[in-house]
Amino acid sequence: CGVFGAYSQSGSAVLEDIYLGLCALQHRGQLSAGVAWIDGGSVHIKKGLGLVHEALSQSELAQVEAHTAIGHVRYATAGGTRPEDSQPLGANYAQGPIAIAHNGNLTNAVALSSYLANRGAIFQTSCDTETIIQLMAHQPGTVQLEALETALSKIKGAYSLAVLLNDCLIAARDPWGFRPLVLGRRDDTYFVASESCALDIIGAELVRDVEPGEILVIDRRGIISRKLPKEAQRHHHCSFEYVYFARPDSVIDGRSVYSARKRLGSCLAKSCGCPREAVVAGMPDSGTFAALGLAEEAGMDFEAGVVRNRYVGRTFIQPTQRVREAGVKIKLNPQPGIFDGKEAVIVDDSLVRGTTAGRIISMIRESGAERVHMRIASPPVRYPCYYGIDTPSSEELIAAQMDIPELCEKIGADSLRYISCDELCEAIGLPLGELCTACFDGNYLEEEDDQSLLEV
Ligand code: 5GP
Ligand code: SF4
Ligand code: MG
Repeated sequence: CGVFGAYSQSGSAVLEDIYLGLCALQHRGQLSAGVAWIDGGSVHIKKGLGLVHEALSQSELAQVEAHTAIGHVRYATAGGTRPEDSQPLGANYAQGPIAIAHNGNLTNAVALSSYLANRGAIFQTSCDTETIIQLMAHQPGTVQLEALETALSKIKGAYSLAVLLNDCLIAARDPWGFRPLVLGRRDDTYFVASESCALDIIGAELVRDVEPGEILVIDRRGIISRKLPKEAQRHHHCSFEYVYFARPDSVIDGRSVYSARKRLGSCLAKSCGCPREAVVAGMPDSGTFAALGLAEEAGMDFEAGVVRNRYVGRTFIQPTQRVREAGVKIKLNPQPGIFDGKEAVIVDDSLVRGTTAGRIISMIRESGAERVHMRIASPPVRYPCYYGIDTPSSEELIAAQMDIPELCEKIGADSLRYISCDELCEAIGLPLGELCTACFDGNYLEEEDDQSLLEV
């Protein structure tokens, strides 16, 4: 998912900025989009299914006078796909109005929500995010900010949040820093966004990342930085954001996603070897930058050998295998003539179910390639993600089921190479101890016992 928030200290309207920010975060979720603002002491929400421009009306939002608001684009990792599961979530409870937009996945939401339901909470959605609101409402008499901090100290897993409380905007990032979150500024308007590319679109400058475990409180007096009561042993920044999920023009935790992707490609060139006379092509869009890095490092020719239909979304968002397979065909096509009688080195960012690679390799062979070598700019994805990326269960993860020779046969490649976890970290420029690599190596975050967290 993607979150976005704005606070204008001079009181100018911000909803058009929110709309534009969400458009720049569209790659983070295409299932639904929504915005929330507070007016007259109560929460107002507009949301709908589909892309930002389908779910929301820019001209309607431009009429809203709110000087602070939040927005969300959703990609379902927890909760259903009904309109009521889309975000922001909002409520007017005893202490006042609240609206919340969440990127990430809470790992103890089930335990917490059954605890709360047994004490009278009535859940309106199937989103883990609602747990935060219910935890706040179950602290009678506690002022909102304090109730939010207590709620955050009880949840586990990944969260980058944009929250509206009465007249303030809050940004909060879990102590491990799984999902990105940045602070931006344009004159007297502050912004919080999942990625810095959303600041570029509205002409705001990147101030800094929201630190893991930090809560920023923004109101007309300025910004206050607070620390969550809970501290992490180490950071777990999601390495997959650099591999695939984030936009290449974003800078996350001080590192350019684009440069990281090119370095992933040059790691492939160094450690895997490629036939020199081969044509290098990337699977657009996600494999293009790694392919560039590989070709540059190896001194080979890069060709835009695979063409992408830019009006078709990310294939993995389509729900069934049948649609997914048709989706690859609709989306990608080899450039005629480029591969004829040649060897091809095809670079993609990741192999998940193997559908994309299998299809494209057979299309490239049909277009005349003599041999096709597959190069993957990440380690094998073998484990599911519990922190907000929709990797399927191990049964569907092809690298969890097969070794390299079997994979090669399955996708029809003449050779297949991956990079190692160490190379992944080196390319990103953060040590293994700062990154989450759980979907590659199964090293999940170690968390403390549940019971202690439950008492509200
Ligand atoms: P596959 O076809 O192997 O299932 O998916 C691999 C392709 O999907 C790659 O081109 C990659 O860009 C994209 N992809 C990246 N991340 C994910 C993810 O989290 N889930 C899925 N299913 N596909 C992803
Ligand atoms: Fe990112 Fe993988 Fe960790 Fe999930 S398990 S947070 S996708 S690195
Ligand atoms: Mg791709």
